[in-house]
Amino acid sequence: MPKVAELVRSLKREHLQCQVCEHHCTLAPGDWGKCGVRVNRGGQIISTVYGKATAVHIDPIEKKPLYHFLPGESAFSIGTYGCNMNCMWCQNAGISQVRKKDERREYLGKSFSPEALVEVAREQHLASIAYTYNEPTVFFEYSYDTAKLAHAHGVKNIYVSNGYMTETALEKIEPYLDAINVDLKGFTPELYETYTGARLEPVKRNIAKIARETDIWIEVTTLIIPGLNDSDEELREAAEWLASIDPMMPWHLSAFHPSHKMRDRPRTPPATLARAYEIGQEAGLHYIYVGNILDPTREQTRCHHCGTQLIQRHGFYARPQWRTPGICPQCGAAIPGVWTKDDPTDG
Ligand SMILES: [Zn+2]
Repeated sequence: MPKVAELVRSLKREHLQCQVCEHHCTLAPGDWGKCGVRVNRGGQIISTVYGKATAVHIDPIEKKPLYHFLPGESAFSIGTYGCNMNCMWCQNAGISQVRKKDERREYLGKSFSPEALVEVAREQHLASIAYTYNEPTVFFEYSYDTAKLAHAHGVKNIYVSNGYMTETALEKIEPYLDAINVDLKGFTPELYETYTGARLEPVKRNIAKIARETDIWIEVTTLIIPGLNDSDEELREAAEWLASIDPMMPWHLSAFHPSHKMRDRPRTPPATLARAYEIGQEAGLHYIYVGNILDPTREQTRCHHCGTQLIQRHGFYARPQWRTPGICPQCGAAIPGVWTKDDPTDG
């Protein structure tokens, strides 16, 4: 079921400009956006992946990753085809790098209306729906309609995003979005331009905006890639910038493994992740987590004030060790995050 996009600007000669992401693709009639799933057709921009899920799974929330948002709960997780970035190391290239315009089959995927998604989430008593696997911004209308309906039924919504949406798109979905994990793929404009086909600045703007101006709970993930973004200087710059936005913002340091078009380098050595962790601490970040690799000392949540272990983790398994959710039993400090289903999302 294709859907007409609303975030569109009309230009001369039937050209339309897509307003969901920072590429601002200008599309002549028949043109597809860089995402490969939005097309100018019949005087409108059409989302061809609306209601078509390519991946539907029940995942632990820890897998998103979100560590300060309903730990131990499950998220009903869906994705479609397409992406507005083309990262050479993409671990979901099988769906994200499919471009429908190339396939000549427009309506791929399993039919799953917003109503059906919300119904499954409710039946299965899942606390949230996660829009993930590929970039939710490219299926903005599908995620928006589902999120709005989910909220009306008390189900929370999560974006796992590259952070490249426009401010307009962000503001539109904000009332229905409870949490987001944003990738910060590196900290130089060159890295973004060379390896993702996008720009760093809008991603930084969105991370800052979400953290400072919205009620959406945010965590940031950086995939640490040997020889690409793992220098002390670049890690320090990223960590200091994140700490300047909010030192309480969780930062996930994720281990790379050879994937997609990037197979010319090894997995991230544990020592590199440990070094990045230390750099993050020196920069003043309080909640840093190493992931995608087993690291029992750097995946636990410890109180930023007194250091007491509060959530015990092993891979995606999480067990809070407090009597009152979000309160350190040792020193009484309030731990930033969303800890219970009826918690209003705080920022
Ligand atoms: Zn404490």
